[in-house]
Amino acid sequence: MSLFKTQTLPCPDCGTAVDFEVVHSVNADRRPDLRDAIVDGSFQQQPCGSCGRLFRVEPELTYLDQAQGLWAAVRPAADRDAWEGAEREVSSLYARSFGADAGAGAQALGAKLRPRLVYGWGALREKLVASAAGLDDVELELFKLAVMRGKAGVMAGGLAELRLTEIDGENLVLAWFRAGDESFIEGLSVPRALYDEIAADHTDWQPLRDEVSAGPLVDLQRLI
Ligand SMILES: [Zn+2]
Repeated sequence: MSLFKTQTLPCPDCGTAVDFEVVHSVNADRRPDLRDAIVDGSFQQQPCGSCGRLFRVEPELTYLDQAQGLWAAVRPAADRDAWEGAEREVSSLYARSFGADAGAGAQALGAKLRPRLVYGWGALREKLVASAAGLDDVELELFKLAVMRGKAGVMAGGLAELRLTEIDGENLVLAWFRAGDESFIEGLSVPRALYDEIAADHTDWQPLRDEVSAGPLVDLQRLI
């Protein structure tokens, strides 16, 4: 089931109260239109009735997509520094929903799901774009690390994050976004062959692979 609840939020420009149908749970198998809206960026975004400014609610929801084998707890981008505590909460929530503490039927579903913690709409969108293209999110983070070498200072300062945005033939299209407001900085295109090379490497890349996949936050954030 996809669950919505009406909440009133102030417009960031003029302060007018705007009613939002805020989502708390998305079942993408039953509502593929919601998955599409997350990918096209329109989900949970609407105009202010007074000044027309489009704005978007920060995500705080669970996302279930059995077709893509994904279960994700999605949190606001601004909360990302608290990821270690959030991982414990999310692991326990997942255990009760589809893991060791769930009923037999739910556990059978859970056997095909990857539990994830993501911060911000951009990070959720990236997981959906990657899985639709048959890319593994752990390998994708290692690929991004390879692309970023030399720009690591930007990441270390927490100023920007690199996200997969689309697939263009044999290239993976990436973009840098500002960490706070997820606004676009610049794009770049990298041959998919680099991804394939890393995914096939189980020696040099293995220690970092183990680190990136050590918990539900499969993100370079955990290496910083
Ligand atoms: Zn307004």
